[in-house]
Formats: sequence, structure tokens, C-alpha cells
Amino acid sequence: MSKIKSLNPWTSELLGEYELLTEEQIDQKTAAAAQAFESWKSVPIAEKAALMRKAGEVLRKNQERYARLITTEMGKVIRESRAEIEKCAWACEYYADHAGSFLAPEDLALPDGKKAKLLHQPLGTILAVMPWNFPFWQVFRFAAPTLMAGNTGVLKHASNVPQCALAIESVFLEAGFPEAVFQTLLIDSKATLALLDREEIKAVSLTGSEKAGAAVAAAAGKNIKKSLLELGGSDPFIILADADLEKATETAVKGRMVNFGQSCIAAKRFIVEEAVFEPFLEAFSERINLLRMADPLDESADFACMARPDLAAELFAQVKKSVDMGAKVLLGGQEPRKGSAEFSPTILTNIPEDSPAFKEELFGPVAMVFKVKNAEEAIRLANATEFGLGGSIWTSDLKKGEKLAARVESGAVFLNAMVASQPALPFGGIKKSGFGRELGRNGILEFVNTKTVYLG
Ligand code: NDP
Repeated sequence: MSKIKSLNPWTSELLGEYELLTEEQIDQKTAAAAQAFESWKSVPIAEKAALMRKAGEVLRKNQERYARLITTEMGKVIRESRAEIEKCAWACEYYADHAGSFLAPEDLALPDGKKAKLLHQPLGTILAVMPWNFPFWQVFRFAAPTLMAGNTGVLKHASNVPQCALAIESVFLEAGFPEAVFQTLLIDSKATLALLDREEIKAVSLTGSEKAGAAVAAAAGKNIKKSLLELGGSDPFIILADADLEKATETAVKGRMVNFGQSCIAAKRFIVEEAVFEPFLEAFSERINLLRMADPLDESADFACMARPDLAAELFAQVKKSVDMGAKVLLGGQEPRKGSAEFSPTILTNIPEDSPAFKEELFGPVAMVFKVKNAEEAIRLANATEFGLGGSIWTSDLKKGEKLAARVESGAVFLNAMVASQPALPFGGIKKSGFGRELGRNGILEFVNTKTVYLG
């Protein structure tokens, strides 16, 4: 691949073609990032915060333009694209407001009466390998804390969103950040792995598939460099008999259908106590059936298409195999047209334990619904997965909910709410969902050297 293509998945129109960087250009840009670090790390936090706030303003000022870029490159409906840009501006403001206190030196009083200090110092240039599903948000939730901590950043974005990748670099330049504090590198996977051999790159943050995560973490590990991995999920959405069924059902539809299901923290496995199983299933499928497919630029569209035709074909293969093994199709289940990114929202029940729908991540609008006898069985099933990203529990007994939440093997559990990321909440997973945390104070502390200074 010598060129990166930007293709509209709804119309199949070619939107642009971009040359990959040459080896020499990669040399120049990584050297520039390392050099920029030398001055950026000493810029006072208040000045960094002013620039980050400005980045938020640039995002808001150009919200419509950036939203259209997202929608035309990866097919998300325009209302959701606008909300994504707004959320990025929120993250910029959040870290502009809080990075100073998160990074402030900490005093430690030792048991022997002595004292020590902890300093949080930047590492250098951090590589971000990012996916296409939230092409702005995934990058900003990395960049806002990482740059505020005094690091510089280089972005290798997914190959199907080059226009978003370039626009993000321009946000920081337009906001007035010094050259090379944040740069987009149009490179392929091979060149990405090679970056980790370079002295200038100190660590890497990746959001994407297990396969990409394993390759990038291996390259980082070989070089004794830190990696943060935010990978897939197969989040349970547990509805107990005492839940507010109306609210749970409404949220279940949103949790599964936001971004047309292409989200690591989407609710994927609906685990429902038998007393409310039938009414839930009926209301859930009715609501999904009412959603309207249209051009993603159409204001009234509920969904349009997946981000690429190969993703639709891959998802259908998982559905088909599961059905061949015995799963029942309650809704959808049709094969997408060849070469099309369209997909019919699908609900599966009676899912066999060894089928892809049980074991794998289904990254698109396919809901798996399970009936369980009680809360115990619900927790067992929730944990019967290799993933451990998020989870949602619905019950009117909050005490019971909290106890159950503690037993879900995941990085987050939301009670009576859908799992969602926001700037102040640490975000990340366990098991095959990855390691490390983005966002909140934990997120900014991932890419710093927490230095112990002992005061003798
Ligand atoms: P990938 O995981 O392949 O892509 C994510 C990012 O990693 C992209 O920038 C990609 O670049 C890069 N990448 C991929 N392989 C390597 C490698 N060997 N070395 C270095 N960089 C690499 O996602 P896909 O687009 O292929 O989607 C496939 C599946 O991944 C989805 O169906 C879903 O299950 C999962 N996924 C999970 C996401 C999440 O939010 N956790 C987001 C996106 C996907 P390039 O585009 O050039 O290949």
C-alpha cells in the first residue's frame, strides 16, 4: 500500500488519496517531535492549559466541518458526529482545568518520620495508534492528557480516516501549539511497529483489535517501552427482575445501536432474568425495528452503515456461523450485499456456548440476548468471556447492584446506566480488553515518570 484512500462507506465515493510518508519524512517528523519535547516540557502548565482551552474552541468553531468529515469517512450519523466533537472539546477543557492539580508534586510522610516527594514528569514523545470508530474522540482522549503532562504526541490513525487524522493535527496548530507538539503520521502498520525501535518514541497507546494490540505491545516490549492497550469488549447488560424495564429497554437499544454498534463499550450481551425476559425481548426488538436507516448526513437517520464493507462481511460471517451452530435469529440476520457496508440490525437468542456470538466480540449492530434464572447465574454468564471492559446492571436495589458490580470482571460497571466514557472517569479494561487506564487522573499519570525524591 503506497497510498491511503479515504472512501465514503455510504456512497462508495473516493474522497481523497494520500501518499504514505517516506522513511526520510518519518525521520524528520520523529526528530521534530523529540526536539519539540525539549521546550514543551518546560512550558508552564497555565500556558499549556490556555492552548488546550483554545483547542477546545477550535473544535467548537469548526464543529460542523469536522462532524461532516467523520460522517463521510466512516458512516456515523451526523448527530452523533457533532456530539463526538463536542465531547472532544469537553476533554480539552477538563484537562486544561485539572492537569495542574493532577500533576502537582505529592508529599509523602514515611513511617520513620522522614519525608519524600513524588514528581510527575513527562516521558517524551508518545505514539498513539488509533481506530476509526470514534476518529476524533479516541485521539483527543489520548492527546489532551498526554500533551498537558508535557509529552509530545505522534498519531498513526486508522487507514480509513486520513482526513480526520489530518484535521486533528490542524486543530492543535490552529490553537497555537508549537510545531511538532502533535503530529499526524500517514504510515502503514509496518512503519508503525518500526517507530517503536526508534529512540525518540518513549511509549505507545493503542485502541483497536486484539491482533493490533498484541503486535504493538510486542514491539514495545521488545524495546522495554510502556504500552497502554484499549482493546475489544463483549460487555454484559444485566437486567434483573426488579429493574425499571422501560428505562432499561430504552437504554439497551441505545447501548447496542450507538455508532451502529461499532464501539468497544457497546452493550453486546443482554442477560435478562427470566421473569422479565419475554417483555424485554418484545419491547427491545420492537424498538430496534422502528429505527430508521438513511443517509448518515440526513438529520433524521438513526443509522446508516458500517465503517467499511469488509467489517460488514466479517460481522455477517460471525452471525452466520453462530446461526449454523444453533443460534436463533429474532430480527435481521440478512447477508449484506457484496461490497456494501450496510447491515440489518440483528437480534440473536439461544446462543450456543462455543459459537462466535458467545465467545467473540461482535463489532456492529448485533445483540445477543440470554435468559437467566437469577442474579447469580447472570454474574456467572457476564464473566464467561475473555473480555473485561465494561458492564451495566439494572436493578432498583442499589445495594444489591453495588455488590453485584464488584463481582463483574471488568474495568467498569455502570448501575442503571449505559457504559459511556467521559473525561473525568478512568476508562480501560482487564483480561483480553487490555491494560492501563485512559481519562481521569489515572489517565494522565499513565505517561509520566512518577519520580520518588527522598528528603534525607
Ligand atoms: P485494527 O485493530 O486493525 O486497527 C486499529 C488501529 O491499529 C489502526 O490504526 C490500524 O491501522 C492499526 N494496526 C492494525 N494492525 C496493526 C499492526 N500489526 N501494527 C501496527 N498497527 C496496527 O482494527 P480494524 O479496523 O481492522 O477493525 C477490526 C476489529 O477490531 C473490529 O471489528 C473490532 O472488533 C476491533 N476494533 C476495536 C476497537 C475498539 O474501540 N476497541 C476499535 C476498532 C476496531 P490500519 O488501519 O492501517 O490497519
